[in-house]
Amino acid sequence: MTENSILPKDCDPMGQAILDYQTTGKASTLKVLSTMFDDDEMSVPYLFRTEESFPKLERVALGMASGRVLDVGAGAGCHAIALQNKGLDVTAIDVSPLSCEAMRMRGLKNVQCVNFFSPMFDERFDTVLMLMNGTGIAGELENLPNLLRRAASLLADGGKILIDSSDLKYLFENEDGSFDIDLNDKYYGEVDYQMQYRKVKGKPFNWLYVDFPMLKAVAEDCGLKCKMVEQGNHYDYLAQITK
Ligand code: SAH
Repeated sequence: MTENSILPKDCDPMGQAILDYQTTGKASTLKVLSTMFDDDEMSVPYLFRTEESFPKLERVALGMASGRVLDVGAGAGCHAIALQNKGLDVTAIDVSPLSCEAMRMRGLKNVQCVNFFSPMFDERFDTVLMLMNGTGIAGELENLPNLLRRAASLLADGGKILIDSSDLKYLFENEDGSFDIDLNDKYYGEVDYQMQYRKVKGKPFNWLYVDFPMLKAVAEDCGLKCKMVEQGNHYDYLAQITK
């Protein structure tokens, strides 16, 4: 995907699943394929989760959100809606026109179908939320500085980025506690995915999971501050990044 682009409607399985679920109350299976793992599926109702079913890290992130908030890659808008209901001023962005349509139907007031990396999007926020593996849209480790600098450029004075990810190291752990990770290979958190919903097959894309020490090192290289806010139950964590 180039930096300005949004998804074509006929090539957006997740968006189609979200819009179906929004309009009919049900959806078919949303398949997640990867060359690295067995075929899997993503729960569409999970994308519509509410306050009671947010995982701990997401609850903490929402509790810390303040002022003008940007929800990046908002999907079905679950976090944006929770914050709007609390009276916060929230803007939700997503590259999926179908997801954006669903979010508007759900009553979100500020929805923009725009790529996070597009320079056309130029506003300032007190909180930039990047949740459900927010580092994912960097795709590759090499692009992480770009993602962090871009998020930082959208911050108002005193603003913060709240971003979650996981250390995928556990996937490569042997029974004896050693790790099957080739340090000469690409970074182990770079995963390729392709999604399929009914007959709609999306383009393959890369999705980055990054361990906390790496996120902190890259953020500091970019001249940003990065601190661990909270650890989850499964190698996942929430971090806060500030200027
Ligand atoms: N944050 C939501 C959805 C996560 S799925 C939740 O927690 O439920 C990731 C979302 O990011 C998808 O809706 C996808 O369309 C969107 N996305 C991926 N790349 C993006 C980009 N470059 N700019 C904006 N949105 C993006």
